[in-house]
Amino acid sequence: MIKSVSDSGDSEVIPATGLLDGAHWVPSPNADERPPGSVISLLVVHGISLPPGEFGGPYIDQLFCNDLDPAIHPFFEEIAGNPVSSHLLIRRNGEIIQYVPFQLRAWHAGKSCFDGCECCNDFSIGIELEGTDEIPYEDVQYERLGSVARALMHAFPAITQDRIVGHCDIAPGRKTDPGIAFDWQRFRRTLHARNRASGTTIGD
Ligand SMILES: [Zn+2]
Repeated sequence: MIKSVSDSGDSEVIPATGLLDGAHWVPSPNADERPPGSVISLLVVHGISLPPGEFGGPYIDQLFCNDLDPAIHPFFEEIAGNPVSSHLLIRRNGEIIQYVPFQLRAWHAGKSCFDGCECCNDFSIGIELEGTDEIPYEDVQYERLGSVARALMHAFPAITQDRIVGHCDIAPGRKTDPGIAFDWQRFRRTLHARNRASGTTIGD
């Protein structure tokens, strides 16, 4: 079901494994099978930093692997013990880490709703950008996210441009990430421009 080679020379999803070619693989136990009949049809963009506002530490990996020491920071005490994960993390330097194969369900959205459908984890792929709501994301993060999004739209054609949203959009009032710092117009322009350049037709 998963198509492999992207037309545009972007990142690729490896069909046999459900992993992104070139991503650093850090398997998370916080994943399970998607419900039968689920169609992967939504991409959810998140922002995360641990501790909040600090970048580059090992703590996101540790959180997603249930290995976060609550004694290190007061915020860790709040979140440790709450099993969460995402499929991918794009770090400030552009490094991509994968925690959950795409065909499995990662635990990133929580209580959520898109277009009348609840439990967005069932049918979505979650991508964390290392960042905060207010600090501008890095150029390389936009480049990597664009490349990954194109690869995922190719591998999972039910993910269309209007089915790429922020966590804030599917859990309003509860979540604000990726925040006002994330430039949706810039991201969508990149998607459109690159797809035109590669000859792939993507509807507006
Ligand atoms: Zn989020």
